[in-house]
Amino acid sequence: ADPSDPILRVDDVTLAFGGLVANRDVTLDVRGGEILGLIGPNGAGKSTLFNLISGVYRPSKGRILFEGADITRLPPAERCRRGIARTFQVPRSFDSMNVLENVTVGALARHRTAASARRAALDTLERVELTHRAEAVAGELTPPEKRRLEVARALATGPRLLLLDEVLTGLTPSEAKAGVALIRRVAATGVTVIMVEHVMEVVMPLVDRAVVLHLGSVLAQGLPAEVVRDDGVITAYLGE
Ligand code: ADP
Ligand code: MG
Repeated sequence: ADPSDPILRVDDVTLAFGGLVANRDVTLDVRGGEILGLIGPNGAGKSTLFNLISGVYRPSKGRILFEGADITRLPPAERCRRGIARTFQVPRSFDSMNVLENVTVGALARHRTAASARRAALDTLERVELTHRAEAVAGELTPPEKRRLEVARALATGPRLLLLDEVLTGLTPSEAKAGVALIRRVAATGVTVIMVEHVMEVVMPLVDRAVVLHLGSVLAQGLPAEVVRDDGVITAYLGE
């Protein structure tokens, strides 16, 4: 493959729920190694696009290519095996299991034995700085710790593409700062990141490029500084 080929290509994808078109003719490329911000007002279709990329939904039109291969019809587990991991906007950790057990479940996606999955899970907890909470019951974590666990579960699958859905939303400024540092560290290891955020100010300093969704369509894309000045983007956010 040509190194300049995108790691992910979303090609003219549409998905409707009844009469509501959640994604309309969405086309975007993601380059290997970049941090891409996917922003837009509530209801713009950001989480739906993550669901299409990770295989929760199939589009009614268009294709999704990952590392050059058409994955449009592959089930979620196969996409995970190929290197796509995602977090959910509403954390989906197993509340009654402890933190280490939760991350071990993620690691089992690529480790054959329980022992090696557990070792990988411990490494992942180090990466997200949750080692001190390894034995804590997930349901008893604080909201920022739950976000970290959600990221750890995704990272433990060994992704090359990581989809983060509003992992910084609702954090205090200092928690958000720590979250930004964590995402930078992950990206520095060569993992391509797409970050969904609703609040522009949070993501813009972190991302290499931004794509703005509005009413299911791509409204603008480019460098963060360009996108925040775009008249259409400003109007879309003001109209919220
Ligand atoms: P965002 O993440 O940008 O806030 P979503 O992708 O969650 O937006 O939703 C886009 C639109 O699709 C919204 O109007 C939402 O209500 C609708 N939607 C999302 N998922 C479903 C679903 N499973 N069934 C029906 N409507 C949905
Ligand atoms: Mg969403």
